[in-house]
Amino acid sequence: MMASDCDRQRKEVDFVRVKKRLGVFTSGGDAPGMNAAVRSVVRAALNQDLEVYAIYEGYQGMLEGGDRIRKMDWDSVGGILGRGGTIIGTARCLAFQTREGRRQAARNLVEYGIEALVAIGGDGSLTGATIFHREWPELLAELVENGEIGAEVAAKHAHLALVGLPASIDNDLYGSDMTIGTDTALHRIAEAADAISSTASSHQRTFIIEVMGRNCGYLALMGGLATGSDWVMIPEKPPEGEHWEEQMCQILKAGRDSGRRDTIIMVAEGTRDAQGKPIRSDDIKQVLEERLGEDARVTILGHVQRGGSPSAFDRHLSTLLGHAAVTQILQSDPAAEPMLIGMRGNRIACTPLGQCVENSRKVAQAISSGDYPQAMALRGDTFSEIYHTFYTLMQATPPNCKPDAPPPIDKPLRIAVLTCGAAASGMNTAVRAAVRLGIDKCHTMLGVENGFRGLIEGHIKELDWVSVRGWATAGGSSLGTSRKIPKGRDLYDIARHIEKHDIQALFIIGGWSGYQAAYQLYNQRENFPAFNIPIICIPATINNNLPGSEYSIGSDTALNNIIQAVDKIKQSAVASSRCFVVKVMGRYCGYLALLSGMATGAEQVYLHEDGVTLSNLQHDLDYLINSFERGKRLGLIICNENAHPVYNSDFISALFAEEGKKLFQVRQAVLGHLQQGGDPSPFDRIQATRLAAKAIDFLIAEADKHSPAATAIGLQGSQVQFWNLSELPVQMDSDHQRPKHQWWWELRSIASTLSHHTPHL
Ligand code: ADP
Repeated sequence: MMASDCDRQRKEVDFVRVKKRLGVFTSGGDAPGMNAAVRSVVRAALNQDLEVYAIYEGYQGMLEGGDRIRKMDWDSVGGILGRGGTIIGTARCLAFQTREGRRQAARNLVEYGIEALVAIGGDGSLTGATIFHREWPELLAELVENGEIGAEVAAKHAHLALVGLPASIDNDLYGSDMTIGTDTALHRIAEAADAISSTASSHQRTFIIEVMGRNCGYLALMGGLATGSDWVMIPEKPPEGEHWEEQMCQILKAGRDSGRRDTIIMVAEGTRDAQGKPIRSDDIKQVLEERLGEDARVTILGHVQRGGSPSAFDRHLSTLLGHAAVTQILQSDPAAEPMLIGMRGNRIACTPLGQCVENSRKVAQAISSGDYPQAMALRGDTFSEIYHTFYTLMQATPPNCKPDAPPPIDKPLRIAVLTCGAAASGMNTAVRAAVRLGIDKCHTMLGVENGFRGLIEGHIKELDWVSVRGWATAGGSSLGTSRKIPKGRDLYDIARHIEKHDIQALFIIGGWSGYQAAYQLYNQRENFPAFNIPIICIPATINNNLPGSEYSIGSDTALNNIIQAVDKIKQSAVASSRCFVVKVMGRYCGYLALLSGMATGAEQVYLHEDGVTLSNLQHDLDYLINSFERGKRLGLIICNENAHPVYNSDFISALFAEEGKKLFQVRQAVLGHLQQGGDPSPFDRIQATRLAAKAIDFLIAEADKHSPAATAIGLQGSQVQFWNLSELPVQMDSDHQRPKHQWWWELRSIASTLSHHTPHL
């Protein structure tokens, strides 16, 4: 069931708003992003004139009542977006698993007049919530029978509205593509593995990194893919055959023989062999030492994976889910079936909570009964696809196409790869994936230096399997990049080099200039037959301003760079009353400004798409002055670099400084190129690999056609889609170099709801 389930429920009550007292709690294993979810629930509810109570320490607090259940106001959740863990505490509560415990919890909720609950937690917590909801009428009847509450009170609380939000670093819940905390855990894994790989390489050691996931290999697989690991073990897919040791040793030995200095093995804690026997990290270490004579070390990441500040994605996900939870409670019948609010394909989706809990268990059941194909099938197609891609990329030499053997295909292609526009983190990851996957299918891969400039000048060289070693994790573009858009004479030179190097397909990774250049080649096919080859563009720019894709490689890294910088800037003002005006990149596209504003709790975000007017500024200034008068100590404004030619960040800083000088100081921060740098985030690495894999298959399939496509690939929701480059002028607002339709536009109202308190009189 998808978003329509929410809609259906809402229609039944015809959007009647009922004033409620709402309780929110976090339970089970903590997950980074829980705070952002609590903040969002509290503020969205307050702005709808609801009363909100935080239930501290999860079910334990619900059972204990008293000051474990506290009324929240706007400021009780201020400044928590960047904090890991959960400020309202979480606990594991055995007593809640008993009927008596749940009856006590029901009594406390009734005492506080709480009629709706938002439960934020994992599989166990949401199972508990489902049972509690199902038993609610009986629990109240028992309380009446015991004389603990009156029949009238019970009748008034006949229904408990319930919404669940998925929070678990394991990403093991049905009903949401991602759960709160998973992306941050991947950040921690990637940071650790990147650090370990430099020491491993110095000593030529093998490291076994054990990550969480008793019944779910998501962290191990995605962590392995993102860090370019050399072997991965997950519970859903044990190594085939009886002897996993032989298979692993063979592949790792081939890596060493090919000159690899470091070896990283990523293992999920619940890994087992094909017979269901657990494989511990120490078992792997022993095998490597005994059979290969390796100097092997085990690192168990443990609780590091839960810790630290939440990633941009987790802050964003939690914020949207928390907001949607309140909408769901307000707009559905109090007696309605409880729902899990998740994210599917980049959009909010409601699924009956009972169904989610039940289906989440099925993978664990399949694994424990040894039905591994079923476990993989339940994880979905993308998971399996990524597993197969990983399996190819991790090999020391091309598994299907040996360099000295004759190619097993009729027409091996020569495919040229180039990166264009400003450098974006993840470009290298995409090049590595394209090169290895192309070679694996027995094609020749060519690297063009410095984007279209290199194609004009003929700087083209063959890339082999080993030449892209280590590129999975490196920021920038090792091939070099340029913003050159060919014109006039350049086109002759490109055609000449395409012919000279016998290039039969073009794989372009880049931003606006790369797309423009590819469009030029496509448009000039009649004049230059050399351009009549398959061309594909992969979106890669921090600005996320390309059509046909909701996401471009590099934008997630840039967002994380921004929020880390803004978190530090905010901390620097702890002791003084200050308002920061932070200028971020994006050209004319407000994506980075809006999403970083949401993830850092900015009061105001200025975007070119909205425009900036004097009356907006006056209004926002009044709001700030009013807030500082009421005791606020820190203000944050995010401004897109081109929000307005006159009312820019300099102007806004000067205006606010002058008008607010009795109450606060103003400081401007221009983040500049730090937004473009750094190692790619796990999300950028994973999506770069995924898009590259699909794009290579597409080019190969087009190569045989009489009129091969010139196309671009993109992510729409969670689906990979292709679109014809001939549509570029239709899809782009070329004056402002951004798509005419931008999916994130609708998030502006949520950002505003959560940053501005509008008390109802
Ligand atoms: P997570 O929510 O992270 O999966 P747990 O499995 O530890 O974490 O569950 C957290 C809490 O949820 C438990 O301590 C218990 O209070 C409650 N809970 C879990 N399973 C049940 C159940 N079957 N019935 C009632 N409560 C449960």
